[in-house]
Amino acid sequence: MLLTEDAPVAKVAGARAAALLTKNKGIHTVGDLLEFVPRKYLKPNELTDLSGLSEGDPVVVVARVHQARTQPMRNRPRQTMLNAIITDGTHELDLTFFKAWGHVDKLVPGRVGMFIGTVGRYRGRWQLTHPEYELLSDGSDRVDEYLDHLVPIYSSTGKVLSFHIRKMVKLALESVTEIREPLPDSLRVKRGLLARRAALELIHRPHLDDDPGIGLGRLRYDEAFVLQAILAQRRKAVESTEATARVPRPGGLLSAFDARLPFELTKGQCEIGALLESELARNRPMHRLLQGEVGSGKTVVALRAMLAAVDAGGQAALLAPTEVLASQHHRSITAMLGDLAQGGMLGGSEIGTKVALLTGGQPSAARRRALDDVLTGDAGIVLGTHALIQAHVAFRDLALVVVDEQHRFGVEQRDALREKGRTPPHLLVMTATPIPRTVAMTVFGDMETSTLRELPQGRSPIETHIVDAGRPSWVQRTWQRVAEEVGRGHQAYVVCPKIGEPQAGSLSSVVDSSAGDDHDIEWLDEPDEGAPVTELTGVYAMLEELSQNPAMAGVRLDVLHGRLDADTKDATMRAFAAGDIDVLISTTVIEVGVDVANASVMVVMDADRFGISQLHQLRGRVGRGGVQGLCLLMTDAEPGTDARARLEAVEATTDGFELARRDLELRREGDVLGARQSGRSSSVRFLRMGNRADEELITLAREDATAVIDEDPTLAAHPPLAARVAMRLDEEQAAYLERG
Ligand code: ADP
Ligand code: MG
Repeated sequence: MLLTEDAPVAKVAGARAAALLTKNKGIHTVGDLLEFVPRKYLKPNELTDLSGLSEGDPVVVVARVHQARTQPMRNRPRQTMLNAIITDGTHELDLTFFKAWGHVDKLVPGRVGMFIGTVGRYRGRWQLTHPEYELLSDGSDRVDEYLDHLVPIYSSTGKVLSFHIRKMVKLALESVTEIREPLPDSLRVKRGLLARRAALELIHRPHLDDDPGIGLGRLRYDEAFVLQAILAQRRKAVESTEATARVPRPGGLLSAFDARLPFELTKGQCEIGALLESELARNRPMHRLLQGEVGSGKTVVALRAMLAAVDAGGQAALLAPTEVLASQHHRSITAMLGDLAQGGMLGGSEIGTKVALLTGGQPSAARRRALDDVLTGDAGIVLGTHALIQAHVAFRDLALVVVDEQHRFGVEQRDALREKGRTPPHLLVMTATPIPRTVAMTVFGDMETSTLRELPQGRSPIETHIVDAGRPSWVQRTWQRVAEEVGRGHQAYVVCPKIGEPQAGSLSSVVDSSAGDDHDIEWLDEPDEGAPVTELTGVYAMLEELSQNPAMAGVRLDVLHGRLDADTKDATMRAFAAGDIDVLISTTVIEVGVDVANASVMVVMDADRFGISQLHQLRGRVGRGGVQGLCLLMTDAEPGTDARARLEAVEATTDGFELARRDLELRREGDVLGARQSGRSSSVRFLRMGNRADEELITLAREDATAVIDEDPTLAAHPPLAARVAMRLDEEQAAYLERG
């Protein structure tokens, strides 16, 4: 049988197994099957080795069936079980099948096979219960071949066991004579990579002393290379798009703003500011990612770029992920601009503009006014949530789009906003989640990136401690500590993983959950292994508990979460900012951008339920105003668990980049940082984003792919690579459609 990699997997698997493989493993073609890499490899054991094993260890043994007999099961007389003994001539091992059916005619004395299972002890003898096995058709010399190879163990699905997959893969390797090479030969040689066929052979049929990891390295490189080819094409496309050059007139808003800034810009802010201005002044769209720790001054940088856009006669829009954040931006930006934000109004500056706010929750009169200002261009600066993207929002001349906290925003939403420009607007994306190089190069590889590394002066790094929720004295100490901070005139956040139900007579009202933005509650879908299964602390339960805690007597408490209506949220944030609330008990709605300089302590309840990067962002809310910040992570997670390891990482360092890398390292497969939220397809199968060796590999692949695309942008001369690129894009499209 001759097959191509595109042949349906049923050709080697049969229809029923193929259906399962497709449904559960996403394997459609023979090529997909060949890329289905084993979970692990086992070395065939001699029966003599068994004594060195412990119960539960996986084993592979090659042996002859010595004896097999069936008998009814004692407590289920209608069921027949099969007991067999296999031997290597000297040593023996028992096999037990509780259902003999299907095995009786195979496991006949004299037959030789390979058996795989986990060893157990029963009545003083080693045994395998329901092992997978494969029998040799004759007693031939193929035994040696068994013993010469590592045994690949595939993740099984339903009745399709590892052994079945092994057979299918073998058949596939024999049937596909031509394995497509996406890499130009010269490149492959330059990088010292195996040919794809050799790599696949190594992965699926390694000899005892082979390292299948070398084969896997080739698949990793290919994955990186294809991704990078796509990104290089996208960069080329952006480069060839016409945009309007926005050259600010001198003596405009920007210089007036700079003149009244109460602080000096940091060096990084100046440099990036100049870069953004120069990119705005070019006639192709800026496409830039600005990353910087919470509090590093990104907003100021973005605002200056927005002012430059307005000075050039255009409009600038800032898209925020939540209403809380949009209104906060509105407050702080209008405050920073002062009379510059009162264009056209009495007492406003001559050169001033209007700052419009558009959110879903705002009263319709305000909204109509804002829409009008956006359309006429009176509002040079437009701030808002998703509401900005809606079809009826029209700009006079949108020059620049700033997306705040990118990881909460989908690409499709951003694109919708970009389409509102007469020409494609310039784009600046801001994120406080430090993006490790691997992710920057892959998920965000079509953007240029800038990083604000230094924090403005007067910030001391925050102190973080884990608190064992199981120790009442520690917990009580935590609340005393909060009360002490309040006593010193500071404020505190208590972050809970869920909202819960308000008790009768509680302080705040709750409205229908369908209103407002529900972007604010986001915790891990499933607890990690090792995470405690206790009930999660709700905002209202916490309020109840703290208001009864004697340590908190006289402390003013209030709640904030995504189910409150926009006015209540806004009023609560204002009250907290004004110091009228001492302790704000909230969900992660306060995660992004919220800026209250007087807050000095944060307690995170059930901290194990949050991701590393999320915790890092959360704690960035405190210690912003020159006061020492303290973050207490309350948890039931036991030391030694993954959940605890995440918290320990957060406790150990405040270096956001290191944390982001650790995060990737500790995350389970496929769960790449921010990818799910960002709506960017970044699912990688072979690359390990937290791994330094793979970072190196991605760098090389990027170099190589860029060179190939530079020379051959449409890949006309590289059909196999073009095919892979098309396939990958199809997958992304499918994943995108599935997400809805
Ligand atoms: P980010 O958006 O990166 O979290 P912001 O731009 O909101 O940071 O800045 C955080 C706080 O620091 C704000 O109160 C801002 O006014 C202030 N700030 C920004 N840049 C500077 C600077 N160069 N010197 C002092 N304070 C600054
Ligand atoms: Mg910000």
